[in-house]
Amino acid sequence: GDEILRVRGLKTRFFTDEGQINAVEDVSFDVRDGEIYGIVGESGSGKSVTALSVVDLVDSPGRVTAGEVWYRNADLAEEFREKRPDAVDGDLVDVRQLPEGVRRSLRGPSFSMIFQDPMSSFNPSLTVGEQIAEAVEVQRRARANPRRTRSRTQGYGLGSLLVDSLIPSRSYLDETSRARAVELLEQVGIPDPAERAEEYPHQFSGGMLQRAMIAQALAGEPDVLVADEPTTALDVTIQAQILNLLRDLQEEEGMSVVMITHDLGVIARMCDRVGVMYAGEIVERGTLEDVFETPVHPYTRGLLGSIPDLADPAPRLQPIEGNVPSLLDSEMGERCYFADRCPKAMEDCLRRIPEFDADGSDEHRVRCVLAEQPYDESRALEEGDGEREV
Ligand code: SF4
Ligand code: MG
Repeated sequence: GDEILRVRGLKTRFFTDEGQINAVEDVSFDVRDGEIYGIVGESGSGKSVTALSVVDLVDSPGRVTAGEVWYRNADLAEEFREKRPDAVDGDLVDVRQLPEGVRRSLRGPSFSMIFQDPMSSFNPSLTVGEQIAEAVEVQRRARANPRRTRSRTQGYGLGSLLVDSLIPSRSYLDETSRARAVELLEQVGIPDPAERAEEYPHQFSGGMLQRAMIAQALAGEPDVLVADEPTTALDVTIQAQILNLLRDLQEEEGMSVVMITHDLGVIARMCDRVGVMYAGEIVERGTLEDVFETPVHPYTRGLLGSIPDLADPAPRLQPIEGNVPSLLDSEMGERCYFADRCPKAMEDCLRRIPEFDADGSDEHRVRCVLAEQPYDESRALEEGDGEREV
C-alpha cells in the first residue's frame, strides 16, 4: 500500500523546572494504507509522547521542536503546493509546516486517537450518545467550514482532537448527528445502541466505554487511528475483544492503525510492521518477522529473550538488568543510550549516537554501531561477540 503517514526525525521536549526532558529524541517511521503499525517499548520510552506528537496534541510545557509529520491529503496538498512548496510532497502534507487553523482541520478526517483510559475522554455530565453526536456534528461543520470550530468536550482527551467550534447546547445536535452516533455505537459492537446512547459514561463498563471511545474516534472517518495502550486497563477477555474490534474496523474501513503498546503479544497478534522504542528513539524497526525472528539490536534481543518465538502466543517483555536512562537533556549526551545496559557495549558506543537510516520503509533498520557497517548478521549476534570493553 501507499504511505498514509510519514514521520521523520521527530523530537519532542518538555521544558520543566527540573530541566529540559527529551521525551522523543529521534523518531522516524512510515505507515501505509490499511496496515497496523506497532510501536513497542517499556514505559518511559517515549511512546505516548510520540503518539501525541503524531496527532499534533502536544501541549505546554511540551513542544515538538523538530521533525516532520506527513499525512496524505490530496486536497490540502493541492491547496498548498504553490503557497508552501516545502510543506507538500506529492499528496503528502507536513502538519508542522501548515498554518494553525489548517492543522486543526486534519483532526478527524486524517487522524484520531484513542487512549488507555476511556473515562478521561468523556465528559461525565453528558450522555455518551450526545458526545459522539457532537463529534459527528463538529466534523460535519468542520468540513463545511474547515477553519473554525470548538467543542464542549475539549479538555476531555479525545474532545481536544475535535476542531474548534462552540456547540452551544445539546439542542444544537440535530437528528442526523444523533442517528449517526447510534450507528457508530452499533458499528463498535455495543448492544442496544439507541438505549445505550442515552446513558452517561459511568453507566458503561470499561470495555463498553472503550468501544464508545473508538466510536467517537471514528466520527471523522480518520485515515489513521493512533491507539495508545488501548487495552492495558482491561481484563484479558475484554482486551481480546477490543483488539478484534480494531482489526475488524481496520479491515472494513481500510483505516490504518498505529498501535502503541508495551505488550509484545499485542504486537505479534496485530501488527504488520513494528518499531522498537528506547529512550525516545526508535532503535530497531522492520517487519514483524524481521524484528521478532531476527532481532539485531541488543535491546530488542533482550526484550524478546534469547530465543524469540513468533509462535508463542504471549511473548512477554523480559526484564533487562539496569535502569532506563534519564531523558534529561543535561544527562543524555552524544552516545548510545542503551550503553549502560548493553552486554555488547564498546568504547565507540559512548562517543556518539549510532546512525539510523530512516528511509526505505521495507528495510530492517537498527540503531547500533554493530549494525552500521555491512556486517554478517549471524556473526555480530554470536554470544560473546563484540566484547564488553567499558
Ligand atoms: Fe550496545 Fe553499542 Fe549497539 Fe548501543 S551501539 S546497542 S551500546 S553495541
Ligand atoms: Mg504511555
